[in-house]
Amino acid sequence: MSVVTRFAPSPTGRLHVGNIRTALHNWLLAHKAGGRFLLRIDDTDAERSREEYVEAIKADLAWLGLGWDGEERQSACFALYQRKFDELAAAGRIYRCYETAQELELKRKVLLGRGLPPIYDRAALALTEADHAEFAAKGVAPHWRFLLDREVPIEWHDGVRGHQRFEPATLSDPVVRRADGSWLYMLPSAIDDIEMGVTDVLRGEDHVSNTALQIQMFTALGAPPPRFAHEALLVGNEGKLSKRLGSLGSDAFRERGIEPAALVALLARLGTSQPVEPIADRAVLVESFDLATFGRAPARFDETELERLNAAMLHQASYAEVAERLPAGMGEDAWLAIRPNLANLGEAAEWWRVVTGPIEQGEFDEADRTYLAEAARLLVWSDDPWPALTAALKQETGRKGRDLFHPLRLALTGKDSGPDMKALLPLIGEAEARARLERASGL
Ligand code: GLU
Repeated sequence: MSVVTRFAPSPTGRLHVGNIRTALHNWLLAHKAGGRFLLRIDDTDAERSREEYVEAIKADLAWLGLGWDGEERQSACFALYQRKFDELAAAGRIYRCYETAQELELKRKVLLGRGLPPIYDRAALALTEADHAEFAAKGVAPHWRFLLDREVPIEWHDGVRGHQRFEPATLSDPVVRRADGSWLYMLPSAIDDIEMGVTDVLRGEDHVSNTALQIQMFTALGAPPPRFAHEALLVGNEGKLSKRLGSLGSDAFRERGIEPAALVALLARLGTSQPVEPIADRAVLVESFDLATFGRAPARFDETELERLNAAMLHQASYAEVAERLPAGMGEDAWLAIRPNLANLGEAAEWWRVVTGPIEQGEFDEADRTYLAEAARLLVWSDDPWPALTAALKQETGRKGRDLFHPLRLALTGKDSGPDMKALLPLIGEAEARARLERASGL
């Protein structure tokens, strides 16, 4: 059976770095197995779901290069949910309840006060048809719970966490549908996973206890449960779940000039025993993806590490990879000269402006002005003018080290530091280089 994974975001907001990681890992898992990666929009919550978020989620996945092989929408599946719901109700696996939130809270308090786990007591199971009719006559609609099978422990082999076991006697029968008829996430998700042929559910460990409940739902629906894997959550630099991470999405990354490939390279391996490396080749990330390398400890997302990786990936990016995002006229030789100095691609345009001019040079003292006049005089053009110029200046003036190089860099680029002058000078060109030296010298 070929592998099918899915990414199932709720379109109630933009994707944040944690969702992006889940999407990526599902994509990698499917691609590694030559399977399919599906996108499912979990939009059962009509009030909070927004079409603009659906579009934003898709745009983000496209930006990350995480194409999907099929798309479903929960809001298009209500008829299916109703059918399955009716079947489960007929089989006695879901039942009507009427307790208010306050009543449930009171029951919880009583149980906790007695030192017992706060499990729903299934009082509603004892209601007769006459009781139900009475509620209906009063205009009170029921909410519905899924009846757990309390006889057998729930067990599965988790792709990250290993063997998992839950005693159903310690779990409450989950509410699957509200009194207004709206769906809670859990049952529709299990129905869809069956319908979509999902073989592997990979998600955050905040879903572990949902999985225990959903495994029983799969069985009640007559389907073998998929394989499950729950990855440790991402934490911020301070070592806890931060608000910042919860709102850090692709817009923020784009704004800071983070390449999607850098984010992907980091998130593919963060929290695993494999080293985070500047791997631009997606095939390499796919090939090395392995749930067995995932750790149980929270994965620490460090923005400085992302920036370092981003720079490292730009430093090795070929001209072809970036050409269409470079300023007009900037050729391969310029890219190769400039890329070692970039923290992000946006800076390429700044360096290109340094090459094409005009530049601001600042002030030079008397000695440097004389020195720069000498440089303008000694400049002899060739394919590789920098070593010749500096050798001639060294001989002529006796300057060396910083005194030799720094005024030249300042005069030629207006900057204190930057790309290798040997690579930069040919790009500036003879006439412009001479003009800049002369201007700096005050000639
Ligand atoms: N829509 C659910 C969520 O975003 C999906 C969880 C799952 O992957 O099953 O939490």
